[in-house]
Amino acid sequence: MLWFDQIAEKLDPSRPIIVNDSKTPSGRVHVGAVRGVIIHDVVYRALKSRGFNVSYRYGVDDYDPLDEIPKGQDEFFRQHLGKPLCNVPAPPGSPAADVAEHFISEFFQVFDELGVGAERYFVRNLYRSGAWNEVIDTMLRNAATIRRVRFEISGSKRAENWHPFQVVCENCGRIGTTEVVGYDGKEVEYHCRPTLVKWAQGCGHHGKMSPFNGNGKLPWNIEWVAKWVTFPVGVEGAGKDHSTAGGSREVSEATMRAIYPGSQPPYNIPYEFFLVGGRKMSSSKGVGALARDMADFLPPEILRFVMLRSQPQHPVDFAADEEFMVKLFNDYDRVHARAYSPEAAAGDPKAKDDKRTFDMSQVTDEGGYYDANFQLVTALAQMPHLDVEAEIARRKGAPLSEVERRHLRRRIQAARVWLDTYAADEEKIIVRQSLPERAKTLSAAQRAFLRAVAAQLPGAPSDDDGLQALIFDAARMTPLPSGDAFKAIYRVLLDRESGPRAGSLLAFLERDFVIARFNELDYDRDALMRETAVTAAAFATWLRDPKSKVSSIRLGQDALSVEQALARAGEGPGTLDFVVTAADGKTQLKRVAEGGAE
Ligand SMILES: [Zn+2]
Repeated sequence: MLWFDQIAEKLDPSRPIIVNDSKTPSGRVHVGAVRGVIIHDVVYRALKSRGFNVSYRYGVDDYDPLDEIPKGQDEFFRQHLGKPLCNVPAPPGSPAADVAEHFISEFFQVFDELGVGAERYFVRNLYRSGAWNEVIDTMLRNAATIRRVRFEISGSKRAENWHPFQVVCENCGRIGTTEVVGYDGKEVEYHCRPTLVKWAQGCGHHGKMSPFNGNGKLPWNIEWVAKWVTFPVGVEGAGKDHSTAGGSREVSEATMRAIYPGSQPPYNIPYEFFLVGGRKMSSSKGVGALARDMADFLPPEILRFVMLRSQPQHPVDFAADEEFMVKLFNDYDRVHARAYSPEAAAGDPKAKDDKRTFDMSQVTDEGGYYDANFQLVTALAQMPHLDVEAEIARRKGAPLSEVERRHLRRRIQAARVWLDTYAADEEKIIVRQSLPERAKTLSAAQRAFLRAVAAQLPGAPSDDDGLQALIFDAARMTPLPSGDAFKAIYRVLLDRESGPRAGSLLAFLERDFVIARFNELDYDRDALMRETAVTAAAFATWLRDPKSKVSSIRLGQDALSVEQALARAGEGPGTLDFVVTAADGKTQLKRVAEGGAE
C-alpha cells in the first residue's frame, strides 16, 4: 500500500477531517515548500477518494514579523523589519496590497497550476475578526502551564513573567520586538525592546493594551495549537526539523493536551527536505530554486510526481542534470504505461499502485494518453529544421489528440527551459558541421562499424526502431560491443560520449549527411583484425557455452555444425570469419585468428 493510503487507513472515516498546512510569506517561496503542499494535497485526495468528509486548508501566517530583508530590496524593506508581514507594504510596482499578499500570490498561482485543491486563508483575518479572542484569552491565562510544558519538553526556560503573546507596538508598529509581561484578563502589559531580537530594533515603548481583535499574535507554535483546537485540525504534517524529539511539534502537542484535556493533536506526517542539488539550480539568479521557476520548468504532473512518489520521511534529491531529468520523465512514463496496462485492468497490485501514483500526479483526470519521450523531445527541440509535433505524431503512428498535444507542448517547454537554463554544454545536442577532432581517437573496429552502417543506410527503413535494429546488427557483424558502437555514432555526429536514442538521431538527421560523415574515417585492416579476432580456444569456449544459444553457423558459403566449426577454427592459420546465428535469429560475426583475444 502506498504511503498516503496507509495514512488514510489510520484515520477515522466517521468524523469530518481538516487537513491543514501553512506558510509564512516572508519572501519568494523556494520549491522545497511545495513538498509539504503536495504531501497534504495527496493525503486530502486519498481521504476524499475513500469517502471521508475532508477539507484541505492552507494558511498564510501573515501576522509573523518581517524578520529578514527579501533579496535585493534592502532600501525598501529595512524600515519595516519587525512589523507583521500583513502590515508591510508591497514593494513598488506590485499590484498586491501588502508584502504577505505579494509573496503568497505567486505561490498560490503555482497551487492553481498544480491542481492543489486547498481552501486558502489569511491568519490576519482570524486575529482581526475576533475569531481567536477566546483561544488567546485561554493561552494568556495558562501562561504558567505553557512555560512549564515548554521547559519540560524542550528544556527552554522562559522568564517567570513571560507570556505566550506579542502585541503590535502602539508606538512603532513592530510585533517581533515586543514582550508581554502581564495579563489581567482584559489587557496585556508589554515592552517594545530595542534588543529582543537581532534582526529588528524595538522603540523602547512600555504600555498596556487589549490583546484581542488583531492587536497581537500567539507565538507560532502556540498559533499551531490555536488552529488545531479551533478548526479543528485532523492532519497536519511538519518538516522533519520540527518533528524531532523535544522539537517544536512535540511542544505544541504537549501544550494542547495540557490546556485542552482530552483533546487529540492532529496526525503528524514528518517529512524530509526536497533538496535541489546540481550546479546551476542553487545559484541561478542568486535566489535558489524558486517554486515559480520550477513550475515554469517541469510540467505540473511531473512536479507532483517527483514530490509524491517517495515516502515523506525520505529526502528527495533533485538535480537538473541530463541523467536525472531523463530518468524522472521515463519513470513517470513507465508508471503511466503500467497504470493503463492489462495488468492494471486485471487487478495486479503493483499495477494498481502505479495507477494510484499516476492519478495522484495529475492536475485533472484526463485518462490515458500518449507520452512523448522526454529525451526524444529534447533532441528534436534542438533540431531547428524539424516540426516536433509532426515528428512525435509520426512516431505515435496516429494524429495526436488535443490532450496529447497540450502535454507535448508542455514537454517541449520543459526541454527548452532545460536547454536554456540548466543543461551543461556537453549535454546539449549540437550536430557538428564537420568531423570532430576527437573522432580521430576511434578504434579501427568503430570506424569499420560506421562504414558498415553507412553502406546499409541507403536502403534502410526510416523509422527509429528499424534504424536502431540496423545499428545493433551492424555492431554484431563488425563485431563490436554495442556500447562502443553507440559511442562511435555520438562522437562523429555530436562530439559526445552519449546522446539520445541513436535510431532516433539517425531518423531525424539528413541521411546523405549521415552517410558522408560515417564514411569520413578510414580504418586500417590489420588493426581491425587485431581488435576483433579471438583465438580458436576462446571461440570454442564461447560456442560450447549454452548461454550463447547457437542455432546455425556459416563460414563463407558453407553451413557448419558446431563440431565442424570447432574443427575448422582449430586448423588455422589465417583469419576465419564465422557467421553465427543465435536462437533468437540474431546474427553475429566471430572472427578467429592466431594472436586473437584469449
Ligand atoms: Zn515599539
